[in-house]
Amino acid sequence: MSNLKFCQGPDCHTYKTNDRLKGPKGNKTYQTRRRSNFYYGRGNFCDRRCMEDWVAQYIEQALDHYGRTTETKHLTQENKYDIW
Ligand SMILES: [Zn+2]
Repeated sequence: MSNLKFCQGPDCHTYKTNDRLKGPKGNKTYQTRRRSNFYYGRGNFCDRRCMEDWVAQYIEQALDHYGRTTETKHLTQENKYDIW
């Protein structure tokens, strides 16, 4: 089996580009992109559009699941990055 990853964009297969058109001659379909590596969303999306499609569809569930910011955060000596 190949180690190719699927783009996680929910609508990736609906974008009609030549590289998505695959299959046997006469029976080609537009398919989810597969690559060994992606450069968006920590390697999960083939391009920015697919990443934003995912956010548009799943952001509410994701925030409910992982927790929302519900109060002001403050930059302090303790939580600052020591970049200087
Ligand atoms: Zn994609």
